[in-house]
Amino acid sequence: MNLGLYLHIPYCLHKCGYCDFNSHPENQEESIRYVDALLKELRAYSSKKYTVPTVFLGGGTPTTLLPSQLKQILDTVQQSFNLTPDCEITIEANPATLKLQALQEIRAAGYNRISIGVQSFDEKELKLLERVHNQEEIHSTIQQARLAKFENLSMDLMFALPDQTIEKWCSHLKQAINKNPDHLSTYNLTIEPSTAFFKLHKKGKLCLPHEDIQLEMYKTTIQTLENAGYQQYEISNFSKPGMESQHNINYWNNGEYLGVGAGASSYLNGERFKNTNLPSNYIREIGVKKNAIETRERLEPIQAMGETLMLGLRLLKGISIDVFENRFEVSFQKVYGKVLEPLLNQELITFNQNRIALSRKGLFLADSVILKFIS
Ligand code: SF4
Repeated sequence: MNLGLYLHIPYCLHKCGYCDFNSHPENQEESIRYVDALLKELRAYSSKKYTVPTVFLGGGTPTTLLPSQLKQILDTVQQSFNLTPDCEITIEANPATLKLQALQEIRAAGYNRISIGVQSFDEKELKLLERVHNQEEIHSTIQQARLAKFENLSMDLMFALPDQTIEKWCSHLKQAINKNPDHLSTYNLTIEPSTAFFKLHKKGKLCLPHEDIQLEMYKTTIQTLENAGYQQYEISNFSKPGMESQHNINYWNNGEYLGVGAGASSYLNGERFKNTNLPSNYIREIGVKKNAIETRERLEPIQAMGETLMLGLRLLKGISIDVFENRFEVSFQKVYGKVLEPLLNQELITFNQNRIALSRKGLFLADSVILKFIS
């Protein structure tokens, strides 16, 4: 059985103003104990009955750890699970945290894909987002990652930033394309409760582009990246042919995954479970009982079907009806026939060759279309 493996490193140099991820200020003393706990949790899950085609070290900022710690983590993963020979092993990285030697050591440890949090090429925007890196560090990190032989390089970019114009966003896209990444993720800024941006936004201090402009930015993104040879394969993700993120595709296919580390979620044997968020609590729980699971939920079939659609419709190729029906042992038409009809009439979805997918029109209204299948 295949299993994606996610490992969470919760430390960052600074909490960005918009961030609602489970990230905490870097703490060297605690991070040593955190890595020990992570290794312990990994060993507790150790099983050769699963085949692991993807490993993803995310955060937070995993590259706040030393290359030797990152190697120790991957060594333990390899000892604990059966990794496929071509296993995709991704590490997320922030430009301000990496130099050539560290990149070379990380690559030599076995990480073969790097996802760099660029977000913007503009100094003013980087400051506004409270990113700790600058433009110069973006250029040198990308160049050095290639020198370190990362042949699979992804970049994250954000659009619809306060006061951002379409022209400014286009210039970022062009700079990104000039760096020749294999993969690009582009997300519009969303204001999440409990972030510093939320408070600023409430006080009227952040002026986000109007939603029509945001839609225009999104359409421009698709056009610009497609013209440059990138294929859109998910709502926010683009890649050169064959360079899609296999780890994320497994999520969108609602496949099984194991999450290890503070706040990490898992989906295994029809059950969702999630670890406690706070690193200090996580370390304590692992020390006492070798797991830090805080919540568990077994999904009812109708919930699991809804989630499969919610996730799978994010993929441009959508969902195979055969796979869906075999998995849930139901007739798709019987469960969703009533929802399908109006969406087909409005040309928001396509339903052919035994697949259901969002149409181009539906892609721009994805959230509301997907909601129809889960409400
Ligand atoms: S670097 Fe990423 S995870 Fe860390 S605070 Fe910023 S947005 Fe959050």
